[in-house]
Amino acid sequence: MTDPLEYEVVVIGGGPAGLTTAIYATRLGHRTAVFEKEGGRHAKVAHVHNLLGVSENVSGEQLATHAVDQLEHYGGDFFPDAVESVTRPEEGDGDGPRFRLESAHATVDARRVVFATGFRDRSPDVPELERFTGRGLHYCLHCDAYTLGDGPVFVLGHTEHAAHVAMTMLNFTADVDLLLDDREPEWGEETDAQLEAHPVDVIDTAVVSAYGDETISGDESPRLGGLELADGTERDYLGGFAMYGSTYNAGLAADLGCDLREDGAIAVDENRETSVDGVYAVGDVTHGQNQTTIAIGDGAHAGLAIHKDLRPFPKSVEELEDEGDGEETGALEDGVPGAAADLRAQMRRVRDLETHPGLRGPSPGRE
Ligand SMILES: Cc1cc2nc3c(=O)[nH]c(=O)nc-3n(C[C@H](O)[C@H](O)[C@H](O)COP(=O)(O)OP(=O)(O)OC[C@H]3O[C@@H](n4cnc5c(N)ncnc54)[C@H](O)[C@@H]3O)c2cc1C
Repeated sequence: MTDPLEYEVVVIGGGPAGLTTAIYATRLGHRTAVFEKEGGRHAKVAHVHNLLGVSENVSGEQLATHAVDQLEHYGGDFFPDAVESVTRPEEGDGDGPRFRLESAHATVDARRVVFATGFRDRSPDVPELERFTGRGLHYCLHCDAYTLGDGPVFVLGHTEHAAHVAMTMLNFTADVDLLLDDREPEWGEETDAQLEAHPVDVIDTAVVSAYGDETISGDESPRLGGLELADGTERDYLGGFAMYGSTYNAGLAADLGCDLREDGAIAVDENRETSVDGVYAVGDVTHGQNQTTIAIGDGAHAGLAIHKDLRPFPKSVEELEDEGDGEETGALEDGVPGAAADLRAQMRRVRDLETHPGLRGPSPGRE
């Protein structure tokens, strides 16, 4: 077996949270890699809303593709591969803990690990509906209520949360159906009283299928036109929300010993560090906030915290005393500069490209 590649930081998950952490870590001088298995929730976003300075015509996939280019441009590595296990084969050395990550095509060692694995929405059990994800079938009110303003709208679900989303949609449109899809409502008396008073149509008939908007033709992506109910009626909708909860992708973190919250999210402190020393978690997998901007902010927090944790300089007085005052022994000069030589070569190259944008040529690669 060839020796595993060595990284200071390995991020699992190439969505907005993970890629931001990786870009920060790389630009702060740490050899960094991201593993991404196939495009999670960000890849389902047809139009990214609420993201400062980014056009509505940009999709989540385009955003991530551009971010991977940025990461590689700065000298980080990207593996299109699923991480299958994270272990801690040894206690680590003076530099703190070390971890081994295995994927189908690579084995890497890391000084710090970041879980940016997101969560999965539980899909509605309605044939044909899922293909309209992001184009009529939505999961995030803060992202897409605006898009559905003044239209006929559905909320699929039978829980407290579904009922509250349906009533909240009355801020955007007067035409809201709450579709129970042949299930018993699970909300309490108070919500029942609220629903009685609000102009939401609660429909208990099963939903059997979804159809497209026939006014859309040619190369345009299909949009939802409406839903067919078990009694044979067809109800035209501009779109709506499926509210069946979600599952956090926290299994690998739990196997490593990270504490989880009651709802299954990974528990983190204000630096986005988990209960396991040297392991961080960012984005939706830590809180299910369901917002790209918040995921990006988390990534920045973690990137800065990891840098403070890993950077060799400045050394504390305690460290200097332990090392017998590096100046005399020459230990400090030996370790300067702290960032690896290949990353510093890339820093020089990126600087040249920024100052002389006409320059082109192959990337210097790793030494
Ligand atoms: C349809 C839809 C529309 C949305 N619209 C908007 C919007 O307009 N504006 C907005 O702000 N937010 C929107 N959101 C929410 C937004 O997409 C998320 O908040 C954001 O993607 C969270 O980023 P993340 O990096 O935490 O997680 P994700 O984007 O879910 O990324 C996690 C990644 O981890 C990867 N992964 C998981 N396990 C492994 C593993 N073992 N190995 C390797 N990789 C792994 C997954 O493949 C996934 O790509 C929308 C979401 C959906 C579903």
